[in-house]
Amino acid sequence: MARTEISHYGEFGLIRHLTEKFSTRNASTLKAIGDDAAVLDYSTNKILITTDLLLEGIHFDLVYTPLKHLGYKSAVVNFSDIYAMNGAPKQITVSLGISKRFSVEDLEALYSGIQLACEHYGVDLIGGDTSASLTGLSISITCIGEAKKEDIVYRNGAKENDIICVSGNLGAAYMGLQLLEREKAVFAGNENVQPDFEGKSYILQRQLKPEARKDIIEELHKRGIRPTAMMDISDGLSSELMHICSQSNTGCRVYEDKIPIHYEAASMAEELNMNIVTAALNGGEDYELLFTVSLDDYDKILSMEHVGIVGYITKPELGLYLVGRQGEEIELKAQGWNSLQESKTETPS
Ligand SMILES: [Mg+2]
Repeated sequence: MARTEISHYGEFGLIRHLTEKFSTRNASTLKAIGDDAAVLDYSTNKILITTDLLLEGIHFDLVYTPLKHLGYKSAVVNFSDIYAMNGAPKQITVSLGISKRFSVEDLEALYSGIQLACEHYGVDLIGGDTSASLTGLSISITCIGEAKKEDIVYRNGAKENDIICVSGNLGAAYMGLQLLEREKAVFAGNENVQPDFEGKSYILQRQLKPEARKDIIEELHKRGIRPTAMMDISDGLSSELMHICSQSNTGCRVYEDKIPIHYEAASMAEELNMNIVTAALNGGEDYELLFTVSLDDYDKILSMEHVGIVGYITKPELGLYLVGRQGEEIELKAQGWNSLQESKTETPS
């Protein structure tokens, strides 16, 4: 494959080359790339800002992560944080630290993933920076979004008797990571072995190309449901519940048999002799939404596809517990009730 050195373009030429295919679509973007600063107009709406720093070797492994997927995921995890405030992402800036190992073609692949995510979620690229780095690739993305003041949902609004809801299913991204790590280890031992990914496309996709739950936010809006508290699940259900309960000053009960699990994740866990519930509670990177709603919205929630009720909010003195299949109560801990592997990778928030 052709390899063009980054020096071929120079810094300004490189940014122009990588961003020329991007177009803007939001009325709030008055000026995107091309001046000293971008110009935005949010009129009377509130502005939401979130940022993520991703470092090669800490947050991603390029041995099994295609650069296009990495670009897509880097953008989507930021969108997910804006949706988790009940807002809509509108603009991003992308800054890269790039070592000599990377060519212009590599960066084109990364940006094609970012562009795909921007098109899919209706977000404008409005700026960024690139710099040479001594080792590896680092990606810093800042996302700007908007919401009406009265629509914004924080982590601190959960009340006693509220229902705890989760979108989609949990643990699949973590099982996808375990599969990729296993095949990487096998490959390191014998380079003639082809990776065995058959029947595992769902968990791989969940790890390599996650989606943000824009659809759920739109559904909630359509049905007139405003969650009392909400966040996205980037570090596992257990740790996110602890955030909501500590900020809302409540306790909770969640039921083991209500935690939504995809069959592919369950079968991967069985194959690796791991507990899938532990993976769902602590695995992370699912980018599903965890939210609480008032009991008054119970029927509306039941009618929503892709949303499950996993438990309820209690008084703070009742603590945070998982109720097992035999009715036993297991205290929820930040790192789970079974120790996960120490190699667990850090996940962006
Ligand atoms: Mg978050």
